[in-house]
Amino acid sequence: MARYTDSVCKLCRRERQKLFLKGQKCYTEKCPIEIRNYPPGEHGQGRRTKVSEYGIQLREKQKIKRIYGLLETQFRNYFKKANKQKGITGENLVKLLESRFDNIVFRLGLAASRKQARQLITHRHFVINEKLVDIPSYSLSAGDVIKVREKSKKLDAIHNSLKRIKDSTYSWLTIDKANLAGTFVEVPERVDVPLNANEQLVVELYSK
Ligand code: SF4
Repeated sequence: MARYTDSVCKLCRRERQKLFLKGQKCYTEKCPIEIRNYPPGEHGQGRRTKVSEYGIQLREKQKIKRIYGLLETQFRNYFKKANKQKGITGENLVKLLESRFDNIVFRLGLAASRKQARQLITHRHFVINEKLVDIPSYSLSAGDVIKVREKSKKLDAIHNSLKRIKDSTYSWLTIDKANLAGTFVEVPERVDVPLNANEQLVVELYSK
């Protein structure tokens, strides 16, 4: 499968916003956004061209896609699915993205980034409802319980990551730090999701 291999920090700088792609470094003063918050490249600092409506929509789509670590085809498939569901397409899109297994592992604090969550999942460190699941895109349902497998409970990556999370960080998740487990209580409402992006612009872009 195709993969993005360049520096992920450049993606944040392109969007002029922390996308939290790198793990622990994102929470320190070494984060490049803290040091030089302008687009990468020779003309990054001086560029002041007027951005078209299309350009604004495109940037917003790229931002959300990058936050969740998806490639174009995967992201567009989520949009198609969201568009077929009842309700507001943009909100449906965010709910589908938030229900991904890798996202929940990250939100629970069991991984420092969604990228690390994907790696831990494919390395078979988690179970959902006592069954091994190694598919990062797996979509969780309300009530699903995620646990770290017994053999993985000493992993430094998980323990280091958990330090940044408070027990009640998200209203739709419960976190049991002592047992390295968490419950996806319900699909969150858009208003509860800390996603600094305008998904309606994605809807407008893909509806052209
Ligand atoms: Fe983005 Fe994290 Fe890199 Fe900062 S450290 S630029 S938040 S990926």
